[in-house]
Amino acid sequence: MRQVSFQRSLCAYPLGMAKDGDTDGGGIPTPESDQSLAGSLGSRPVSSRRSRSGGREDEGSRASTSSSWVVVGLDNGGTCNSATVLDHSGQFLVDRLVESPSHVQDGPHVAVEALVEALDHVLGAVGVARESVRAVGLGTPGPASADGVISSKGATNFSQTPWHGFDFRGALERRLGVPVIYNNDGNAAALYAHHAHFGSEAALHSSVSAIVGTGLGGGVIEAGRVIRGAAGMAGELGHVHIPMQGLLADGQPVPKCKCGFVADAESVASLAGIEKNLLPYWLTRFPDHKLARAGSIGEAAKLVRDYGDSEDPLALEILGQQAMALGRLFTIASNFIDPSAYFVGGGVVEASPKFREWFLGRVREHTSLREEQLKVATFALIPDRDMAGARGAALAAFHSLDAL
Ligand SMILES: [Zn+2]
Repeated sequence: MRQVSFQRSLCAYPLGMAKDGDTDGGGIPTPESDQSLAGSLGSRPVSSRRSRSGGREDEGSRASTSSSWVVVGLDNGGTCNSATVLDHSGQFLVDRLVESPSHVQDGPHVAVEALVEALDHVLGAVGVARESVRAVGLGTPGPASADGVISSKGATNFSQTPWHGFDFRGALERRLGVPVIYNNDGNAAALYAHHAHFGSEAALHSSVSAIVGTGLGGGVIEAGRVIRGAAGMAGELGHVHIPMQGLLADGQPVPKCKCGFVADAESVASLAGIEKNLLPYWLTRFPDHKLARAGSIGEAAKLVRDYGDSEDPLALEILGQQAMALGRLFTIASNFIDPSAYFVGGGVVEASPKFREWFLGRVREHTSLREEQLKVATFALIPDRDMAGARGAALAAFHSLDAL
């Protein structure tokens, strides 16, 4: 097997995806993203660290022996699939985003075939035969059941009727003939954040991840494993109610979420929250702002993060409210599960190191922890940005083999 780097494909990037670059946060504790994760996965041997510029010691070997099995992680998005490969020793063989079209708008059958193509594409790139794949991790946006059945009401990416109630995981498993392990994309990214940060001590810790995108996703990890819940709905952090007193400005309407709740975390800490709730109000306080002349409120909302990066006062009001909302959400999490780490990811922190440090600092400032908790808790950014979903899916597949 060999390790390879990839250029970005022609797939369009969803909102919030940033350009390649380092993920170190200018003083922000960023999880170690390129360590072997093997040590966190039980007694498996730790192999040499991968190299970003060159191959590994066994470069050139394409043998598909029983000792060189792999798992594949597939992150299914509205436009693209992202794929990665994790070898038997816990090393990722791919250090860049590997994308191909997801074709979810063409219906389940075409989309399943597109995932097979994504798998074959990434395997071909690292020189591994399909026969070496012991399990596949699949991540998709929700809502879906814990076992990967799309909601009977459909979902944002799966709105057409054939998707409603479709057993996506089962269909891919039947097509590939290997076990397919499902996680929603928020849980998958949370799992990756946890293992990337804690490495060989992953099983000794718990964490909460909040990922700010169009909505507010995330997940809860306990002892290195995803908390799924009875119906697969655990870790839906976006729809947890948070106190609004002291968060909203004078005269600011109570924010509403598309889920039907008012004053939940997503109603503030999401792109939808900016568009529907925060920006319309703050434009009344900054009527001469350039964003008031954008083509639409939706277009204006997408620009807020960049304005915040430039320390624009209106944008900092909005992003400050989002950070406060996340802090209040983490305060609730601290009382529920008292995690070792609080991770923040998504488009909102894909900005300059200075901005990320400011944002994470604000989140930390508004998270009310007890003295004992403060001594042990960590706040950090989720590394590897848009690769986190595929990598988390791969880790879940890897863990599933422990149970066999
Ligand atoms: Zn909600």
